[in-house]
Amino acid sequence: MRGIISRFAPAPTGFLHLGHVVNAVTVWRETRVRSGRVLLRIEDHDRQRSRRQFEVAILEDLAWLGFEADGPPVRQSERGAIYEEALERLRRQGRVYVCDCTRADVAQALRPADAGLKPRATSELCYPGTCRDRGLADAPGRGLRVRLEPSMERFVDLRLGAQEQRPSEQCGDLLARDRDGNWTYQFAATVDDYVQGVNLVIRGVDLLASTGRQIQLARLLGRAEPPVFLHHPLIMKSAGHKLSKSDGDTGIRELRARGWMPSRVIEHALSLVE
Ligand SMILES: [Zn+2]
Repeated sequence: MRGIISRFAPAPTGFLHLGHVVNAVTVWRETRVRSGRVLLRIEDHDRQRSRRQFEVAILEDLAWLGFEADGPPVRQSERGAIYEEALERLRRQGRVYVCDCTRADVAQALRPADAGLKPRATSELCYPGTCRDRGLADAPGRGLRVRLEPSMERFVDLRLGAQEQRPSEQCGDLLARDRDGNWTYQFAATVDDYVQGVNLVIRGVDLLASTGRQIQLARLLGRAEPPVFLHHPLIMKSAGHKLSKSDGDTGIRELRARGWMPSRVIEHALSLVE
């Protein structure tokens, strides 16, 4: 196997917080111990919520904490042509279709006809394929979905061991571009990991459920070998104190302003992990 490449990929929709620090520590440690390189990717695919001021602040806080990436950051907002090209590959396989469903439409379609039936216990909405065969034309205000395979995806998480997921039953056909014209996180991150040669993805365990679909999407895009995944534990939310200063939402800027040193911030972040 060639060299390990991982990435740290914050979304510039807020300031760097302790949850990010836990991720950064894990990314740099697990990559450096394998003599790998860490790429920095600004996940500003959501054009409505992303702010350049947050990106500037995140990069500054990262540098202050001592995390150094191997190369300048790339921005998803500047990679539209790459995502378009990837989508074209799926179009040629007949996998892409236009969908005009809102979130409310999807929720409605999933409601059992018999009101007495219990709705499926799922934390995410599984798209039922409403628009699969409607042949809608692409237009502003409409999204694009990728037809998934009904296959079981098996992978070995470096920390959690063997996993099995069936994306077609978890989430249904994958949204690649939303109704606002934004590339979705799932699509953009999977394309970027492929194009940038990222072969080790280190992220929080809250994203474990979406790993199977990223592995399948990578394969449909033509990637011979998916990245290896490592899902790390998250900062414990103190029960009943959702916004307490001891949880993962605490901003690094705030701690800096209080005179904390980088090493203390890092130790504190790690001490809060479950
Ligand atoms: Zn639809």
